[in-house]
Amino acid sequence: MTVLDRFRLDGQTAIVTGGNRGIGRAIAQALAEAGADIVVANRDVESGEETATEIAEETGVETLAVEVDVADEESVESMVAAVVEAFDSIDVLVNNAGIVVHEAAETMTVEEWDSVVDVNLRGAFCCSKHVGREMIESGGGTILSVSSMSALVANYPQRQVAYNASKGGVEAFTRQLASEWAEHDIRVNTVAPGYVRTDNTDQADAVDPNIDEVWSDEMLMDDIAGPEDVAPVALFLVSDASRYMTGACVVVDGGYTVR
Ligand code: NDP
Repeated sequence: MTVLDRFRLDGQTAIVTGGNRGIGRAIAQALAEAGADIVVANRDVESGEETATEIAEETGVETLAVEVDVADEESVESMVAAVVEAFDSIDVLVNNAGIVVHEAAETMTVEEWDSVVDVNLRGAFCCSKHVGREMIESGGGTILSVSSMSALVANYPQRQVAYNASKGGVEAFTRQLASEWAEHDIRVNTVAPGYVRTDNTDQADAVDPNIDEVWSDEMLMDDIAGPEDVAPVALFLVSDASRYMTGACVVVDGGYTVR
């Protein structure tokens, strides 16, 4: 076996929440290129099915699109049942679905706060809980949550307390889950990206049209990342290449948090 073989996922099944676009789309593609069958799980059925079809055509793996609201436990249970029916077991879960609300703390409504925490933190819990049950039964697996450097530092100039709190929660949740599920051979880690050009960061342009320059000034690398910069790290963290890592957070931020 070569070192590159340890990155292969042949014969495995991976669920990527929010796999239809942005960072999730790139992760789904990477895991498929490594040989995993892919479940694209998100809210918008049309784009989920489109992405699943494209990935199957490009890589030759089996794919399935499943509609899910990660914040809704019943919806997550239905997703897990559909995946087990189609693929028998689940080897990899990527908790990638996430949203942000840009609003100052003093004017943010409780509903806005809840909407962010519900998707980003409750969603990671619901999916991990129900996929984890399957993994416990089948003898193990890997869970990766897409956290954020916002779990580690304050962001500027945009205001987003709920987002940062939710991602801090994902980090603490991950460490605890890694501890509780090591005995079931389930590894649980996070990847914490810095700024990545997606629909999510496009929202921040409304806050400040020069926001890219403000952000870039704080980075050591030249530019804002693309989703393809996060995907290889995600593949590493869900594959056997990271066999000895659990409860870890890998920061992919162009050096932003170093400054
Ligand atoms: P996008 O806005 O491009 O995509 C968000 C994804 O989340 C979509 O696939 C969306 O699906 C899905 N989603 C949102 N709510 C739900 C829900 N309730 N149930 C199921 N799926 C849902 O985001 P990014 O690709 O930028 O972000 C992906 C992850 O990376 C998020 O967790 C984000 O916090 C994190 N991140 C992003 C950074 C960035 O700079 N872009 C930096 C650090 C972390 P649908 O299309 O169906 O709504």
